[in-house]
Amino acid sequence: MVLLCFKEMKKLAFILVLLTALKSKGQSSADSAMVAAVYNHVLTQSEAYEDLRFLCKKVGHRLAGSESADQAILWGERTLKKIGADKVFLMPVEVPQWRRGKAEEASYRYRTDNMGLECFPSLVALGGSVGSTSAIEAQIIEVKSLEELAQLGREKIAGKIVFFNKGLDPMLINTGAAYGGGYPIRGKGPSEAAKYGAVACLIRSLTLADDDYAHTGGTQYDENLPKIPAAALSAKASRELSSALKLDSLLKFRLHLHCQAMERRTQYNVIAEWRGSEHPETYITIGGHLDSWDIGEGAHDDGAGIVQSIQVLRTLKAIGYQPKCTIRIVLFINEEFGNDGGETYAKVCKEEGLVHRAALESDGGGFTPRGFMNEMSDAQFERLMTWKPLLEPYGLHLFRRGGSGVDIRPLQDNKIALFGLSVDTQRYFDYHHSGNDVFEQVNKRELELGAAAMASLIYLVDMYGFE
Ligand SMILES: [Zn+2]
Repeated sequence: MVLLCFKEMKKLAFILVLLTALKSKGQSSADSAMVAAVYNHVLTQSEAYEDLRFLCKKVGHRLAGSESADQAILWGERTLKKIGADKVFLMPVEVPQWRRGKAEEASYRYRTDNMGLECFPSLVALGGSVGSTSAIEAQIIEVKSLEELAQLGREKIAGKIVFFNKGLDPMLINTGAAYGGGYPIRGKGPSEAAKYGAVACLIRSLTLADDDYAHTGGTQYDENLPKIPAAALSAKASRELSSALKLDSLLKFRLHLHCQAMERRTQYNVIAEWRGSEHPETYITIGGHLDSWDIGEGAHDDGAGIVQSIQVLRTLKAIGYQPKCTIRIVLFINEEFGNDGGETYAKVCKEEGLVHRAALESDGGGFTPRGFMNEMSDAQFERLMTWKPLLEPYGLHLFRRGGSGVDIRPLQDNKIALFGLSVDTQRYFDYHHSGNDVFEQVNKRELELGAAAMASLIYLVDMYGFE
């Protein structure tokens, strides 16, 4: 133990000497040394992976409003206190409460070659779905889009279960854009189906994988229309149901969901503050969302962003950095079902007159980082581009304009620079909101590279800002 401390002190002294020496040779050499020190620390001493293991395996999934989300808040507070923040506090946030209840029941029988086959498809209720007192049994009408649904109209739809069988567009290289294209069916599909008299709604999971995991996610009912049960079938189950319908278009699908919504309640954003030495009144916020859906472990979405954000503070402190601005780590609550944490945080910051220089979020999974999405002025973007040579050696070359993070976007005004860690998301939607989003699916090194990328950017933003 003593030996370790001594080693750490030696390392710190070395970095400080190196920095002083490099200062005389110009800013960029010193900055290169600083970025190298960040990476060296994260890649050899990061605790992010073990933090993620604890969050996933000991706390588990953490739907906002649930008791496991309470546990996650306590864990976040305890962890942030341990890493030496100047102040750790909880910000009250009103969140919805929704419970899936006991496991969904789904089955159908269809006839082929004079044989009756019974299927039990893999399916999960969509977040916010209503349940029903007894099972619903009805014929299926398969559609590909909201437009096709409207064309069929009440005559063809009333009394049936609408099945939106539309996969994400595989031709889009940006998987986030593919997800964005599929999202309206999950968000609005159930109410649109109810408008024409449907008794329930099924969607194909919003995934690019072809497997048997069903993916949940929030749906938003239109308050002026009847609320009908809504669920997502796995990609495989969707394919099989579609094939069965071709053989037996009159088959009956039986669905029983046990979901229930309850009163809203108070939970918390967990916030750690590290006071700035030169501009303590100027803030930089870094974060991810602590809540997850109630299946899987919320490992990529967004346990990864949480533990990376915590690691940023740990690493910058460990290498002896003294921030100019006040740095905040924010573990937001309830991004998934209403963005209450992000909205409340921005509202409180505004009420308190907090001036933000920048905010950074990681919410694309713990995959290999490629750069930073950004929402900022042209002048700020020009400044960002001057840092590119420092970041490119670490594989950070994508600086796509537009997009940052759902939790930090409410902070947006015409001055703040918003960043989102941009990662390789080709596999993200294989796991997203499913029972397969578990700790084992996160690669330690990829997770750490993300944390190092974030800490490096925060160093540059804090040092040089955007004036
Ligand atoms: Zn997320």
